[in-house]
Formats: sequence, C-alpha cells, structure tokens
Amino acid sequence: MPLVAANWKMNPNNLDDALDLVRGVMAVARGQADRVEVAIFPPFPWLTAVSDLLVDSGVKLGAQNVFWEMAGAYTGEVSPPMVKALCQWVIVGHSERRLHLGETDDMVARKTAAALSCELGVIMCVGELADHYDAGTSDQVVSAQVRAALARCSADDSARLVIAYEPVWAIGSGRNADPEHAYKTMRLIRKIVGEMIGAGAARKVRILYGGSVKADNVQSYVELPLCDGVLVGGASLDADEFAHIVKVTSEVYGHR
Ligand code: PEP
Repeated sequence: MPLVAANWKMNPNNLDDALDLVRGVMAVARGQADRVEVAIFPPFPWLTAVSDLLVDSGVKLGAQNVFWEMAGAYTGEVSPPMVKALCQWVIVGHSERRLHLGETDDMVARKTAAALSCELGVIMCVGELADHYDAGTSDQVVSAQVRAALARCSADDSARLVIAYEPVWAIGSGRNADPEHAYKTMRLIRKIVGEMIGAGAARKVRILYGGSVKADNVQSYVELPLCDGVLVGGASLDADEFAHIVKVTSEVYGHR
C-alpha cells in the first residue's frame, strides 16, 4: 500500500493550530484506509495530544527524530521506547538534521537499527546535495547513504523500513526533481536493498519520493513504477493541498 507521510518540521507553533490540521487530515483520510496509508509527523511536544485525537482515525502518527540508545544520560534526546509509546513511525536522517545537526551516515544507521528493534516503522531519508547533482555524482552519494544504513538492518526489518529519496536541492525549494531522475535513483536504491538484505526485502521495502511535492506534481511521482508514495513537507501544512496529494495517490494506486 502506498504511504503518504506529512513532515510538519518545526510547525505549527501552537497546539490549537496543530489540532486543526490533524482534523483536516483525518477528514481527508476517512474512507481511504484500505487504499493509502497516511502518516503525520508533528513536532515532539504535540505528539501526545495528536495521538489522543487520532484514536480510531486510521491515520498513523510518527516522530521526526529518535536517539539510538534505549535510555540514559543523553540530555535532550528521545529514546525509541518513548517514541513507540505514542507513535507507529519515525523519520531518521532527514537532510535538515544531517545539515544543521551534523548527523552522519553512522548516526543515521544506529537510529534506524534502534527504532526498528523497537518495532517502529522507519522512514530513512537519503539524498544528494545540489553540488553532487550538478557534478553527476548523485548515485555515489545516495548509494553510500543507503549502504551505511542497511549495514545494520536485516531482511526481517524490510516490512517496516521505508527509504525516502529526497534530493536535498528539492526540499523546500519549489524545484522538484525530474521524475526520470527520481525513478533512476529509486531503482538504484531497490537494487542496493536486494544486494544487501535480499531479493525478498527489495520487494517489501517501500521507497518514497520527497522534495517540493505539491498537489500539481504528485501524480508524476506516484505513477512511477518503483515509487510507493511521497514524503511531503511544506504542502502538508495546508489541509486542502494535502488532501489533494492523498486523493491523487489513492487513485493512481487504485488503478495499478
Ligand atoms: C521534507 O521535509 O521531507 C520535504 C520533502 O519538504 P518539502 O516538501 O517542503 O520540500
């Protein structure tokens, strides 16, 4: 089933607005649960209230980050069991964390493994910078990121592992990737999954596209044969725009 994931980043700044947005998403997702999986990723402080509101809605909840240790003296961090108490999903390795918080491939790999070991679904993000894209080295960069993360995964994890291909230059820029480029990179990712954790896993792991997905371009990604959905940032903060993205995804996969 396709996954449409809403990364709210560090928005909105008050709980009432967050809950209004959740109500909008619940209205969108109603009746779609057997056609498309919808997951929202609000900031940590809103997770408890959002979790209460989502009961029986079919909409899944996720956190935007997690630490790799299970407990201990790690000020400011949130453990996988804490996330698991409220959420079904977590995002790891988002490019904004790699860029602003210095997350390395090794840290992303540890987070991925720790979250999977607690039965969380993990959206592990990879993607090249504009310089890599311009230099034609996207494949090498993405391949290194995927290989590093998968080094700590096994075939047993594949049903709960999602890899989001998000070219960094496309995130929040309004410059979405050419679908052909996205397709080639997703094909590469699936090949690496097959090499590293087996052919069965390569079929099960879902691969998303992310980077300036909007209502008017989502179809060009979700209709790609290897694409299992989208990770949406900015456009997920507008309930109508997000509704359209969910609807298009559901229709395209309904015809597959
Ligand atoms: C993201 O935050 O993962 C993202 C893809 O953002 P945007 O849709 O705003 O480019």
